[in-house]
Amino acid sequence: MTIDEGYIKYASDWTRGPAPDPAATDLLSRWRRPLYAAALVGHYDDLGVGYGNISVRGAQDGQFIISGTQTGQIADTSGAHYCLVTSYDVEANRVACTGPVEASSESLTHAALYELDPNIGAVVHVHSHPLWTKLLHRVPTTAENVAYGTPEMAREFVRLFRDTEFCTQGIAVMAGHEDGIVCVGANLEQAANRALRMQHEIE
Ligand SMILES: [Zn+2]
Repeated sequence: MTIDEGYIKYASDWTRGPAPDPAATDLLSRWRRPLYAAALVGHYDDLGVGYGNISVRGAQDGQFIISGTQTGQIADTSGAHYCLVTSYDVEANRVACTGPVEASSESLTHAALYELDPNIGAVVHVHSHPLWTKLLHRVPTTAENVAYGTPEMAREFVRLFRDTEFCTQGIAVMAGHEDGIVCVGANLEQAANRALRMQHEIE
């Protein structure tokens, strides 16, 4: 099993700052709870790295609020565990962010997803071995040779959004990121419920 979670591949320009908009972080904390309870986000204790991350689109164009790096082990998050991505460049692999913690190392993937459609208001990235195994190549799936957090992955999401039901169903599997699944939605409730519903189906 290859776990590349927790390693920041992109150039991250983090400015330590106050917690992002409480309305957004309250919502994120609320929806993270059932995802954490279902172990769709959490922490690989044996590897010492967190997995899964969630975000919502920010009030300003090109911004979003995302869970911080290495917050996976925290059962109940608060504003202290989120970061505002203030700008990004998907092709250049670069993210600028501000908050009490540095943005998740998968921020670039979230950025690429927000770029797909202005109607995407939230992104939920979960990890589940049983779900991943079940859904691989049965729902829209990114190419096996493409790793998360790369400009190539961004292009894979563009392809899936254009050519598959990813644009209507909001669910994609990452073949090149073991156990990695992405759910997008108009809002966080919709994106999170897409992940939670799939989880309930296999329980
Ligand atoms: Zn991941």
